Amino acid sequence: MKVLFVNPGNAKAIYQGLSNKVSAIEPPTWALLLAESVRANGHDAKILDVNAENLDIPSSIQRVRDLNPEFICFVVYGQNVNAGTVSMSGAVKLSTAIKSELPQSKIGYIGSYVQALPKKALEEEHSIDIIFLNEGVYALRNLLNLSDFEEDSLRQVKGIGFRSSDGEIVLTSPEAVVPSSRMDVDLPGYAWDLLPYRERPLDLYRAPLWHAEYLEDNRSPYAAIQTSLGCNFGCSFCMINILNRNDNEEIGVASNYKGMRFWSLEHNLKQFDILNKLGVSTIRIVDEMFLLYKKHYVPLCEELSKRPYSSNLKMWSYSRVDTVTNEDFLRTVRNAGIRWLCLGIESATKSVRLEVSKGKFEDVDIKQVIQHVHNAGIEVMANYIVGLPGESFESMRRTLDLSLELCTSGWNMYAAMALPGSELYKHAIDNSYELPDTYTGFSFHSEDTLPLRTEKLSASEILRFRDEAFQIYHNDPRFLARIREKFGPGAVGNIMQTNSVKLKRNIIQSA
Ligand code: SF4
Repeated sequence: MKVLFVNPGNAKAIYQGLSNKVSAIEPPTWALLLAESVRANGHDAKILDVNAENLDIPSSIQRVRDLNPEFICFVVYGQNVNAGTVSMSGAVKLSTAIKSELPQSKIGYIGSYVQALPKKALEEEHSIDIIFLNEGVYALRNLLNLSDFEEDSLRQVKGIGFRSSDGEIVLTSPEAVVPSSRMDVDLPGYAWDLLPYRERPLDLYRAPLWHAEYLEDNRSPYAAIQTSLGCNFGCSFCMINILNRNDNEEIGVASNYKGMRFWSLEHNLKQFDILNKLGVSTIRIVDEMFLLYKKHYVPLCEELSKRPYSSNLKMWSYSRVDTVTNEDFLRTVRNAGIRWLCLGIESATKSVRLEVSKGKFEDVDIKQVIQHVHNAGIEVMANYIVGLPGESFESMRRTLDLSLELCTSGWNMYAAMALPGSELYKHAIDNSYELPDTYTGFSFHSEDTLPLRTEKLSASEILRFRDEAFQIYHNDPRFLARIREKFGPGAVGNIMQTNSVKLKRNIIQSA
């Protein structure tokens, strides 16, 4: 077999007690896209989803041994857009074990961490033979067309990094990402048939609890698809655009590679039709900015709403807050089966909000926006961040108070993290702020998490505030009354169960 794509696991180290039932299990979108892309070029491909199958290391190695691939390609992103670094923890454990058991294996990594810090990754992780400097579609194709993986051959492939025979790190010249004009051809869909399942396609995957209206039975089967890639903005805390990378700087900063690419309307509709045939109606639209360009999302939503299956769809997507002020558009979105919008509200403090979001939105009346979305029959998953540069106790409290007032059916608050590939990471290095020394330290939920400190607040003060705010919001009587009214008492019971999971945090315990 030519290439085995590996989606690593390590949910327990990342999500602690939440990994058993609460955290989502998302299909490996990029492994699916890459597998379909290489198959379209005549290469045999398989996917090993360690995360979905919850495989331990010996079982994973046995699978690799049985499949005997010429090339093993770890695809290391994560369940949310910013989780690529965290996912490295499970990936390197497995690739190290594979190298030790099967030393002839050729192992490559595609993912946001190696895109951000390619040299560091090759210097520190000896189980990795080859890294891909961007999304890797063309580099992977060219690599698989080689007759061998010797140094002279590798030097001919653009967009990769490897160690030469004398130990020097070689980064070849940058490779292009797939342009919009070639998206349907060079990224022609998802290799759904390569995913494992129990009884029916995609039943090993589960939506976030809130997406399933807090009810277990709604969570599976679950799929996630993209209708576009990338984002035109450059928020300082985000590293989503790192996959568009087109240079070889030692530290990649995502905001330097802004840009969006789109699949065609016909292609996108076909992907929804395929999922319907597979029996999947709980779907995440992964696009970082789905509701940005009306020319893109309005025809798609209009056509989807004409599909006979649209009334069964339970979808969610991201949106910026200033494109959801028009209730007519919002109804179009709702009629397409989008029942939740995930909005990055970030902070109640205008200066903090505008500074970090770098033109992401004009200042808008957030309360009015939420009202419009609710009026259209769409629920809101509101995202907040504490610990951004300029933050104080008072500003964090204002953000919590605003969130209580908005009373959305979904609530996430993150402690700002200097994720490799983000501008905040460079900011932390330039200011000599302490950074995590493990991959899981970059997780929002792990025991050894280490968020970014600010001028006024330590990392433990920010994290303590965030964890207390989680409990305050999810035990708030107004919030629970809303959930009971919308989704019933079972949903409230599931929230209370989640509330009882206490995350261990080393920096709080030792503070
Ligand atoms: S708007 Fe900002 S946070 Fe959202 S994907 Fe774009 S850069 Fe990232």
